[in-house]
Amino acid sequence: MIPYGKQSIDEDDIRAVVEVLRSDWLTTGPRVSEFEQAFADVVGTKEAVAVNSGTAALHAAMFALGVGPGDEVIVPAMTFAATANCVVFQGATPVFADVDPGSLLISPRQVETKITSRTRAVIAVDYTGHPADYDALRSISDQHGIALVADACHALGASYRGRPAGSLADLTAFSFHPVKHITTGEGGMVTTNHVEMAKKMRLFRSHGISSGFREREQQGSWYYEMVDLGFNYRMTDIQCALGISQLRKLPGFLKRRREIADRYTKVFSSVCGVQPLSVREDVQHAYHLYVVKLHLAQCEGGREGFFRKMQERGIRVNVHYIPVHLHPFYRKRFNTAPGLCPVAEEEYERIVSLPIYPAMKDGDMEKVISAVAEIFASNRT
Ligand SMILES: *Cc1c(COP(=O)(O)O)cnc(C)c1O
Repeated sequence: MIPYGKQSIDEDDIRAVVEVLRSDWLTTGPRVSEFEQAFADVVGTKEAVAVNSGTAALHAAMFALGVGPGDEVIVPAMTFAATANCVVFQGATPVFADVDPGSLLISPRQVETKITSRTRAVIAVDYTGHPADYDALRSISDQHGIALVADACHALGASYRGRPAGSLADLTAFSFHPVKHITTGEGGMVTTNHVEMAKKMRLFRSHGISSGFREREQQGSWYYEMVDLGFNYRMTDIQCALGISQLRKLPGFLKRRREIADRYTKVFSSVCGVQPLSVREDVQHAYHLYVVKLHLAQCEGGREGFFRKMQERGIRVNVHYIPVHLHPFYRKRFNTAPGLCPVAEEEYERIVSLPIYPAMKDGDMEKVISAVAEIFASNRT
């Protein structure tokens, strides 16, 4: 089976992890700050705060901004549920904005129509690895005095008008889940130039306690204070060692993802029945996902039929995403319903994510291409 996404782990990664297992520090030790520093250097920010998932990174960002009950945060409808969930964690209300039909990225014009006196922030999602229109979003957020947050869980290594993802918003969240650009098993990072907010997030990830176990140990002291309500969102030294090793390989991972995407785009632009998403000229895409829209009328059995036929040919495809406001939890808790974000809802019905990952062989890539061409050719006769 060709998977839709897969991690790449080599002997260097394994050695880095084993080395930590033989050391004194398994959780917060020297590897955490080393990984944070290396990551901040890659995205060009002053600060990077490591946490144990992309979801924790989003939650920490909401906490750092002081989002709370009575507040609203605008999120796109086309994203993973965690983008909206982090708002709910803080007792605030996510407000769903519709997306651009070509790229499925949050539409700045839609964001503007959703702003109220309660709006505290907007979270842009770099869906598939394509940076949102940050200059447009920044001018809207500045005009209304609200914060701009980026969910760049798809976009490590992407750039917008020459500036890297991670440096485009007040706070940016990344994930290191195995299907993402680099992995630590589970893990996440928040990048920012706001030193105070970084401090707040370092408290937040460790129970709101003002000094770490390692610091106390080094100072020969037992005393600590809990100054805020935090969580245990710490990333381990084991994970950070893997992260440091993976980060070194990011340029190669990106190069391969872009090669595969370029080949798909070239071929699928002339295969009837599938249409790649549109890409703006002012970005460098990171291609976490390669999403195409199916012309359902030309596809026997619709998207389910396409799914089944790909599966029969040994290819696993996926759908990213069910619009968040359509999930039962949001319908019940926030009274959301179909019709709220018509573009996301309509496009959702015909999107499919094709396999793309750095270790993908040319042969597997060509197998995906011929399978798609075959499925649509047979439908036309
Ligand atoms: C992966 C992902 C997350 C959550 O990251 P985890 O590390 O799985 O918690 C959030 N938002 C988007 C867009 C993602 O793709």
